[in-house]
Amino acid sequence: MKKVSSILLIVLFAHTLFAGVGDKIVKTSKEKKTTTDTVPYVINEEEMMDYNDSLSSFPAYELYCSWDTANIHSPKFDITTLKDSIKEIVLTDAYSCGYMPPFIGNVTSGFGPRRRVFHYGIDLDLETGDAVGAAFDGKVRIAKKSKSYGNVIVIRHSNGMETYYAHLSKINVEVGQEVYAGENIGLGGNTGRSRGSHLHFEVRYLGQPINPTDVISFTEHKLISDTLALSKKTFDYMTAAKKIVAAKGGKGSKIHVVKKGDTLSAIARKYGTSTKALCQKNKLKTTSTLRLGQKIKL
Ligand SMILES: [Zn+2]
Repeated sequence: MKKVSSILLIVLFAHTLFAGVGDKIVKTSKEKKTTTDTVPYVINEEEMMDYNDSLSSFPAYELYCSWDTANIHSPKFDITTLKDSIKEIVLTDAYSCGYMPPFIGNVTSGFGPRRRVFHYGIDLDLETGDAVGAAFDGKVRIAKKSKSYGNVIVIRHSNGMETYYAHLSKINVEVGQEVYAGENIGLGGNTGRSRGSHLHFEVRYLGQPINPTDVISFTEHKLISDTLALSKKTFDYMTAAKKIVAAKGGKGSKIHVVKKGDTLSAIARKYGTSTKALCQKNKLKTTSTLRLGQKIKL
């Protein structure tokens, strides 16, 4: 009986002893936990590789932070952030296929003001069915039909530039497809808002149009330089573009339909013009009464 009780005592003692040790362990791990709480969650190496791979599969993802396959235009970046500094964009290097002309044809319309609108691309003459190629290596972000562009392809390139190919009669690529410079992407045509078959070609960087002739010589069919120096000067054309938009009354409308409460001076203020100019254009007097639904030329 003595033996049994002494064994029992030893067991109890051992239990309390180890329980104490156990408590200590718990406490230590708790302390550790509080100290590690401030350390950010670390993705293990394997997870990290997957994460990077999924993002690196989209060209210039770090610049855009998006891969939008629905909207043709990416949100425009704020040019004022450029200040006078120059950002250099590498157009071709040893790791890419460089530049290949999307189509060799006469330039029928350049970048700039055109018939009271601003033309954000360059038009190359072609026949419907002529093969159109990618200008640089990249990945297809847009391949769809649009009202104005017709059948259009937008390719994003690893330097962040995007090239547009519009009015196509046929699209031969799919969204997400990787293409190389010179690869056939579609056939030229006359779809969308187009007068006669031609290729409307645009160059954009973070949504902002760039004059394609700043990048490419369409007479020599080669790059102007291996790099493009982006600066405030690149976007000087915007002053002219804004004037056109203002003259048109914004949002592309050339007329204003009179609504309840409208006055000539209020309309003039709205569109950045003068009452006098509106009167002259519309053969009105400053005292003329406006009718609801009346169309005012801007
Ligand atoms: Zn065009």
